[in-house]
Amino acid sequence: MKFDWLIIGAGFSGCVLAEQIANRMNQKVLIIEKRDHIGGNAYDCYDPHGILVHQYGPHLFHTNSKKVWHYLTQFTDWTCYQHHVLAVIDGKTVPVPFNLNALRSLFPIKYADRLEEKLTKQYGFGKKVPILELMDVADEEMKELAEYIYKNVFYGYTVKQWGMKPDELDRSVMARVPIHISRDNRYFQDQYQGVPMLGYKSMFNNMISHPNIKVLLKTDYDEVKEYFHSTNMIYTGPIDAFFDYKFGKLPYRSLNFTARHLHNCTSYQPVAQVNYPNNYEFTRITEYKKITGQNVPGTTIMHEEACSYTPGVNVPYYPIPRKENNDLYTKYKMEAKKLKENVLFVGRLAEYKYYNMDQVVARALHVFENEIAKQK
Ligand code: FAD
Ligand code: UDP
Repeated sequence: MKFDWLIIGAGFSGCVLAEQIANRMNQKVLIIEKRDHIGGNAYDCYDPHGILVHQYGPHLFHTNSKKVWHYLTQFTDWTCYQHHVLAVIDGKTVPVPFNLNALRSLFPIKYADRLEEKLTKQYGFGKKVPILELMDVADEEMKELAEYIYKNVFYGYTVKQWGMKPDELDRSVMARVPIHISRDNRYFQDQYQGVPMLGYKSMFNNMISHPNIKVLLKTDYDEVKEYFHSTNMIYTGPIDAFFDYKFGKLPYRSLNFTARHLHNCTSYQPVAQVNYPNNYEFTRITEYKKITGQNVPGTTIMHEEACSYTPGVNVPYYPIPRKENNDLYTKYKMEAKKLKENVLFVGRLAEYKYYNMDQVVARALHVFENEIAKQK
């Protein structure tokens, strides 16, 4: 079989592009994937106890893009799951993102009332304020509260997760979890939220079940590249690896996941995700059946602990957004522009961007429409 396109990586980026090329252009695609499954980091599967777990950490789908939501809805039905997260602070479990309910749980009522009034007056009810912005507020009492939140919610978690302090990262990282001047305890407020009814794996299978798409699993492109040539290529792996690290290694953060099944426990924690900013080495515990809504005896929980990344040893889960890393990425991006072959770099690793799933789908659809369909 001759292929029109070679795609490296069977995550969201690779699968969306393969689907579009096969269905909308009727061209043939070969996907090469080094893992033994499709779906990239969004992959899920049933554990030996019949519980659907996300193998690479909790994946909650949320978007304000009608286009992305309806695109994926061609391949899956959705549950109406809305994510709730608690953090253990001063021995109490409070909602994260930190909101007016968290304020009330942690502080005496008179203080909470006064601070609520000040925050609402300064920013407006319903507004989201990044912690690094709140710390610049002029009012002494609000500033003190901001410092408390910084110390108790962000500092310890961030040092564990990234190996650096909050202000050593791009401000956009802390801004993902802003202080919410509201009583809405959900982690996200996006219009569309949920998880695929039959799991992500089933959604990916439906997406690429086209006779024009073939997938080669357990195959590392770096080891077989001399055998596979295509005039058109899409690369979704780490961009520094593609160029043999010629400008140096891009830093990523890796993770260790430890899953444990508890036979005699029907409910381990009050919500699907509990964060531990100030205790232990791990950052968070996920209880999967609270995401999927499975009604089964026993429960499976997963601890996540971050660690440094070494190519060939562990997985580059997170690009680390900060100026010097973005500058190094720009060198690789310029190098990509000089390539004679037609290679498109798409996705969280290839573009060194802290993309969520919906952003990666939007990006892949954009690349298809603007850089693939238009050229042909
Ligand atoms: P990936 O999923 O990383 O796919 C790239 C694929 O390329 C991988 O399968 C990899 O094995 C393969 N590959 C790499 N190099 C090679 C090679 N040389 N040869 C062959 N194959 C190769 N997003 C959300 O929206 N909500 C969430 O709740 C959420 N939670 C997350 C939790 C964690 C712990 C992590 C790490 C990410 C989370 N994300 C979440 C982000 C989400 O995982 C990504 O946005 C999405 O998976 C990116 O898709 P991708 O295809 O760009 O990359
Ligand atoms: N964060 C934190 N405390 C929390 C939750 C998040 O300090 O309780 C910070 C931390 O630096 C984290 C970042 O906010 O890496 C982004 O959080 P998010 O939940 O978006 O991370 P992800 O789900 O992508 O791992």
